Amino acid sequence: MTTCGQCKQQMDPATGTFTEDGMICEDCQNQNVIDGVDDMAPLAELEGNFFLGFAAGFFGGCIGALLVLAMAKGTQTKKGARVGFGAQLVVGALLRVVASG
Ligand SMILES: [Zn+2]
Repeated sequence: MTTCGQCKQQMDPATGTFTEDGMICEDCQNQNVIDGVDDMAPLAELEGNFFLGFAAGFFGGCIGALLVLAMAKGTQTKKGARVGFGAQLVVGALLRVVASG
């Protein structure tokens, strides 16, 4: 026997499923499927798109990054914009060193 990672009940590992919470029982599995139907879309919207943000920060530079940070709702999009902007600064600095050297 093992303990369900979600409801903490004793359960048979043979019927369980591995998730990010660890092994969960059949009941929790079924409950998650039902909950997941309405939770999935808003979550994806909340997380945003890292690569979209990265592209805006990298290619749009300061303006692109600021626009994304001001307008994007997704946390991943904003993270991407910061990382993309940082990467663009590093690449820009390297190019400058190469050009001046
Ligand atoms: Zn459970």
